[in-house]
Amino acid sequence: MSSRTGPEPPHPASRIEDDLVFGEFGEVNPSISDGSTFTFLDLEKLKAIFHGPIPGCHLYSRLENPSTQVLASALALLEEMPAAHVTASGMAAIASVLLHFCSQNSVIVSDRLVYGGTYAFLRNFLPRFGITTRFVDCTDPDQVRRAFTPETRVLYCESLSNPLLRAPDLQRMAGIAHAAGARLVVDNTFAPLIFTPRRQGADVVIHSLTKFINGMSDCVAGVIAADEAVIRELSDASAGACMLLGPTLDSLRAASIYKNLHTLPVRLLQHGKNALTLAQRLADAGIRVRYPGLPDYPDQSVWKRQADPRMGYGGMMTIDFGEEGPAEKFMLALQEQRAGLLAVSLGYYRTLFSPPGSSTSSEIPAEDRATTGLGPGLVRFSVGLDFDMERTWERFKTSLRKAGVPIS
Ligand SMILES: *Cc1c(COP(=O)(O)O)cnc(C)c1O
Repeated sequence: MSSRTGPEPPHPASRIEDDLVFGEFGEVNPSISDGSTFTFLDLEKLKAIFHGPIPGCHLYSRLENPSTQVLASALALLEEMPAAHVTASGMAAIASVLLHFCSQNSVIVSDRLVYGGTYAFLRNFLPRFGITTRFVDCTDPDQVRRAFTPETRVLYCESLSNPLLRAPDLQRMAGIAHAAGARLVVDNTFAPLIFTPRRQGADVVIHSLTKFINGMSDCVAGVIAADEAVIRELSDASAGACMLLGPTLDSLRAASIYKNLHTLPVRLLQHGKNALTLAQRLADAGIRVRYPGLPDYPDQSVWKRQADPRMGYGGMMTIDFGEEGPAEKFMLALQEQRAGLLAVSLGYYRTLFSPPGSSTSSEIPAEDRATTGLGPGLVRFSVGLDFDMERTWERFKTSLRKAGVPIS
């Protein structure tokens, strides 16, 4: 047996670098498609496209057009998926996929800690259509397995959960889902390029493009990446959710997100570098900080198996102040110091922070919040692209003092 390890696998960033699309007149960027509808020179083709896609032919922009296709293809490459469909928000992607896989009496098994909007959709909206959800802790595979019923169609989780940054073992999740004939749907919004859930067996990967992938906090958008068959069914002119619910992204936004996607690897590394700096210094100062790059991160071993070590640990971090008072004082002081903005959302070039327990995750019942660590003193950070981290750290220290937290 040779002791040589194989060549280094291709860098995840190269997946999008190789995606080279020119404009109609040789522009370095793809042309922007400016039409809701498309002319046909041939009546036969117009009739045929209602029965399935025809290469090079477009029908109507509620389904797709050249600009949404360019972005969708790049995102399929990003996730190593054969196909993708881009949507007008992350929630549009999530809702379309779940409605597609489920029908009356279907059961979804979902991680109990997911994005607040997803949680509310599963808990409050889908039961109206006879679709129920059993919430479990996806870091406990036995609990997940026990929750399955013969009616379970989907196992749903986030690769890095919002806001507590837990990382379920996706290979085990896929094993459980597939053994029961269900699909594993993974929301990879918090960790693009770091995780590639297809490799562990995810059937569908979703993103809110609103966050790191676009990175500019100037629009909302989403993507569904999956097999050709799933995307074809979703796009079916007479029965597909992506045609009939009207979730598709606009072409102007698709074009602007496409350009921002290509700086994602550089941005993500800087977000990760800055977050690691802050997390280490906060931890050294005895503050309760959670970050995947710290030695006390609870899902260390799953992270090592699933994450690409060349992409860092991401831009998300939490601090638990234990109670609301100091957390609020800290956030307001940070904003006063211009170290970031009190705002929901993430992946922006400036640092954003918010108290998830009373905002983005307030849909999650108080008892679940209490038992999972989603307490009133929790602050979620999306660390920005600051160049001078010494200056940022000084501002963090000043803000900690203003919150009554002793720090040297
Ligand atoms: C923001 C977010 C969503 C929803 O995306 P929108 O673009 O706001 O609709 C879904 N999942 C996660 C993990 C998110 O952070």
